[in-house]
Amino acid sequence: MSTLIKVCGASRSGTTMLDLMLGNAKDAFSCGEVVAWFRPWRRNHFKLECQCGQIPCSIWEKIAYVPANKFHKNVFTKLNVNFVVDSSKDLCWIIDTQKWAVSKGITTYNILIWKNPINLAYSHWKRGRGLDYWHKEFTSYHDRFFKSNLPFRALNYNELVKDPQKMLAKICNIVGMPYFDGKERFWENHSYHYLFGSGVTSKQVSEKYSRIWDKDDFPPEFEAHIQDLEHRIEQDTQIQQILNKLNKNDIQFHSNYSEQEKKFILQKPYPLWYYGKMAKRMVKRYFPETYSGAI
Ligand SMILES: [Zn+2]
Repeated sequence: MSTLIKVCGASRSGTTMLDLMLGNAKDAFSCGEVVAWFRPWRRNHFKLECQCGQIPCSIWEKIAYVPANKFHKNVFTKLNVNFVVDSSKDLCWIIDTQKWAVSKGITTYNILIWKNPINLAYSHWKRGRGLDYWHKEFTSYHDRFFKSNLPFRALNYNELVKDPQKMLAKICNIVGMPYFDGKERFWENHSYHYLFGSGVTSKQVSEKYSRIWDKDDFPPEFEAHIQDLEHRIEQDTQIQQILNKLNKNDIQFHSNYSEQEKKFILQKPYPLWYYGKMAKRMVKRYFPETYSGAI
């Protein structure tokens, strides 16, 4: 049985972390943000730099050099695993991989992880971005995701870190993956081979330690803005509609994933933004951005 789990989400929503938690099993493989290898847009994406540190990585040597549409199928065969986890986030890639996987008889699941807006705002703010930076990231990603009609289950990041055992066991139950005690402690796994993804998460893996269970302790400089942010979030119809949709599709209340959903293929023409994004990506392949430390 081949099962592809795509971890989707706006940037800084915990996608790499969830990818590694799910990939923390002998019969599973975490790819990380593999889209960057097949559709590079930054200079560092042209090098096959696996997080295991080996150059070249013996695992990626086996699986990287195939056309993109054969990639996941090839991973199942070459690595002899039942589960492949892909946290590419990129919406065009999520649409394309849905089509490729379904046409090859691979069962697919889309898990959309999202952070509470205040925590998301903080994640961007502490990286030096403006207080409102999160807003466009959050609305544009979710708006496009919902309009694509892809089947999905939503997972709240804050709920996951509050009770990782319970939430991870729920996801495992949906995707048919065995849960074992300690699966959430992804940093204890010694054999990760994922590409790109969150620098913070890779640091946790290399240090064999994680602070993910710690509550976000906001510094006073950020705390001073919380009340105003909360007020604006409450008044923001677009945000409220997104939160509503996420809550309605919460993984805790929709534990089954129908056979029809698993076989869903989006019909062409795709949404207009798909073609725009693909064209932009093509240009970036020839004029890539400079590496900025994070994907
Ligand atoms: Zn490796």
